Amino acid sequence: MKKEKETGRGLRRQPTRSKIVATIGPASNNPVTIRGMMRAGADVFRINFSHGRHDQHAQSIRDIRRIAREEKIAIGILADLQGPKIRLGAFRDGEPFLLKKGDSLEIVAGEKLLGEPGRVSCVYDQFASDVEVGERILIDDGSIELKVVKIEGNTVHTVVRYGGLLRQHKGVNLPGTKVHAPSLTEKDLFDLEFALAHRVDFIALSFVRSASDVTDLKDRIQKLGGDVEVVSKIERPEAVKEIREIIAVSDGVMVARGDMGVELGPEKVPAVQKQIIALCNQAAIPVITATQMLESMISSPRPTRAEASDVANAIYDGTSALMLSAETASGNYPILAVRTMNRIARETEKHLFDPHGQTALRRRTRRLDKGECSISEATVVAAASATLALEARGIVVFTETGRTAKLVARERMPQRMFAFTPHQRTFSRLSLQWGVIPLLTRKARTVAQLHRMAEEDLLEKHLAKDQDTLVFIAGLMQVSGATNTVQIRKLGEDLKG
Ligand code: PEP
Repeated sequence: MKKEKETGRGLRRQPTRSKIVATIGPASNNPVTIRGMMRAGADVFRINFSHGRHDQHAQSIRDIRRIAREEKIAIGILADLQGPKIRLGAFRDGEPFLLKKGDSLEIVAGEKLLGEPGRVSCVYDQFASDVEVGERILIDDGSIELKVVKIEGNTVHTVVRYGGLLRQHKGVNLPGTKVHAPSLTEKDLFDLEFALAHRVDFIALSFVRSASDVTDLKDRIQKLGGDVEVVSKIERPEAVKEIREIIAVSDGVMVARGDMGVELGPEKVPAVQKQIIALCNQAAIPVITATQMLESMISSPRPTRAEASDVANAIYDGTSALMLSAETASGNYPILAVRTMNRIARETEKHLFDPHGQTALRRRTRRLDKGECSISEATVVAAASATLALEARGIVVFTETGRTAKLVARERMPQRMFAFTPHQRTFSRLSLQWGVIPLLTRKARTVAQLHRMAEEDLLEKHLAKDQDTLVFIAGLMQVSGATNTVQIRKLGEDLKG
């Protein structure tokens, strides 16, 4: 069937509180689709370094930045590094072959050998020294399962437990194995330099195993003079065990359910998802729920009811963002997939504050009597409680780095959260914060001037109206971390200063 080209013409952007991440790929790396996805509700675009070439990525980044400026919206770019992903090597004639239960298959570490029935290569050099007899090897998202029966030098002898069509370059997962591959491969370092040179907003690191994987990446970024937030992808069992330590050093987290489902088993994914989201909410860092959210929309214009529920349940869990992968990268309906996710999110968010939707909210209410709270946190909590008590139109926050906006997002309030910043960089980064409406402003000399500019902008954009009550949070010093004042005013009241 001939594919109909989507344009997104006539779409009016209706933002969601839960942000939407759309992956760029062959189906969407063109200006028409990128603009369509932005209008349909995408907030962040993910460039997946597991696929594509640098010249293609550079073009996508240029297109995204230009269109975001034209559309006047805060759009983030997330560069997703492949990490130590293990893959099969190339096959002699490139053709797949069938593996049946009980067949033998030798896997030779190193790339040189061209695969053929009975013998294939694996690109990971230490493959044979890492795996052990009796362990499971999963290929192609776990659709093929092998068991290790013998190891001889560089060759791992296996027997097929669940067969299927074996294709070259397919991903290999080793769920029970301690993998010694470095967390950043040579390819990752090359991609990292590219991503920093192109000033992306977030770097995601795949197959994080420990907090030191994240701090190593941050050290590299610092040495390269980069300024970017790091999102840790949780997909390995070691990372789930060390999740608190990883969250403590990360700027954001992705629940990477694709590889996680293979490594841990699909039955573990829902509980792990809830746990990671709750911990990220407590730590006030954004968390992205990823993979297979609207999988059937790769080829169908409608999602399944189970997919719609999955998206809604992630929102009820408290996720900051929802991610589309193949749906927008290689599917038939990239714009419609974003639109559908946007619709599900908007409908769900109407009920988020109903009694049955409040589990997430209750969990997030933090007490301030523990003596472990910073002045900024106390200021934000006080402002949030005033906003709720007064049923104000919303909170207005002035933020240099986005840190105060993260604290405001953690409050998960039904009211609006307007985050003003004079920095383009912070503006794009706010794209990942739950419920935050990012707004770009000029630098101000006094707090009164800041308030006046914000009020004018809110009125002009029809985000608030005269006499609306607004709760302003600011730092008298106007530097990061100095948030210390709350002012409550009705819009249009006289301002001194
Ligand atoms: C995942 O495994 O769920 C994921 C998001 O990572 P990738 O798409 O890189 O496999």
